[in-house]
Amino acid sequence: MKFEHLLAARTLKIHDNAIREILKVVSRPGMISLAGGIPAPESFPMEIMNGLSAAVIEKYGSGAFQYDLTEGFMPLREALSVRLERKGVTASPEEIIIASGSQGFLDALGKVLITRGDRVAVEAPTYLGAISAFNPYEPEYVRLETDEDGVVPESLERTLASGSVKFVYLVPTFQNPTGRTIPLARRREIARIIQTYDALVIEDDPYSDLRYRGEAPPPVKSFAPDHVVYISTLSKILAPGLRIGFCAAPPLIREWLVRVKQGTDLHTSTFNQALAAEYLAGGHLERHLPGILALYRPRQEAMLTAMAACFPETIRWSRPEGGMFIWADADGGVDMETVYQRAVARNTAFVPGRYFYAHDGEGRGAMRLNFTLAEAEEIRRAVKILGEEIDWASQKKSGSVSEMS
Ligand code: PMP
Repeated sequence: MKFEHLLAARTLKIHDNAIREILKVVSRPGMISLAGGIPAPESFPMEIMNGLSAAVIEKYGSGAFQYDLTEGFMPLREALSVRLERKGVTASPEEIIIASGSQGFLDALGKVLITRGDRVAVEAPTYLGAISAFNPYEPEYVRLETDEDGVVPESLERTLASGSVKFVYLVPTFQNPTGRTIPLARRREIARIIQTYDALVIEDDPYSDLRYRGEAPPPVKSFAPDHVVYISTLSKILAPGLRIGFCAAPPLIREWLVRVKQGTDLHTSTFNQALAAEYLAGGHLERHLPGILALYRPRQEAMLTAMAACFPETIRWSRPEGGMFIWADADGGVDMETVYQRAVARNTAFVPGRYFYAHDGEGRGAMRLNFTLAEAEEIRRAVKILGEEIDWASQKKSGSVSEMS
């Protein structure tokens, strides 16, 4: 039986997420992956979770396995309220809601906000998973310019002044894919602009706790609380498999997010939320996080040092103070798709930059490199291979390498 004719017109617009496809290649034995946005498995607090699993059952009994509020498990929302306050986001436990990862919120926000043809403003480049989440609701994307300090305020202002943008989606801290962070003054400027135009911003903040150097600027939400839907996750600082995302949104948006979640999955796993609640309330995150930073910091340093030694001078790259990614860009000088194919044949993977743009034709000379999953020695080996393949591709482009070499 062929059921294609049964698929909704909307469904046919959903494409395979390119990174999922790349991650399938990457799981081949012997591959060094700089491709995913995946935490190191050795960063998971396995022993603590072992003890907490029993403690959750002891404390909540059958309640940990029962249906619960769509809004989320109250002890978790209480613990998150305390954490958010420390970041400068004031939200009572009742004002915080939980979803199955921040990805769950991206889908729900698309469902709540986007009517076919609505204009949604995104950074160029932006998080590919947000595009995948919004696409089924059939928006049109408006491109926001970015520089080394993230989204350019003039570009945001021009876009909002041109009218009818449904919402703006931003990853202001250690952005995926570029690793860039919007500095404090620019955050204030962005807050002023969105307040002036009465615009709605989705601030996606999965990475701000992974800071290896420097001072953290407060979330954009803290400067424009009524105009920002703030979403974050425990995926990068505890464990992505728990699927715990959280959100502080203006009341009307929050109420609708809860309504659509009722139809999606009723609520996020009670047991997982209870585990996360005990983890946070017991102070485990504060004790464990420095170990995660100590694991990732040298990996990032190894990558930056190897890049300086192995990449040609024509390539520029970001030097983020945290997060999981480094973005390298050869502009028009190299076709990174070719580099990808040749690097994978040598068991080294990354994600070519073009996948992170809402519009075709951009990012062909760029690459996203992840430094959290592989060990420093593997990173050094992988970057050396990438340097060789970039050299090969740039010589090919300038015509000095034959197809056979
Ligand atoms: N937003 C961004 C910017 C991300 O990088 C990710 C993870 N790659 C997510 C959202 C989704 O994370 P999760 O659903 O695990 O919370």
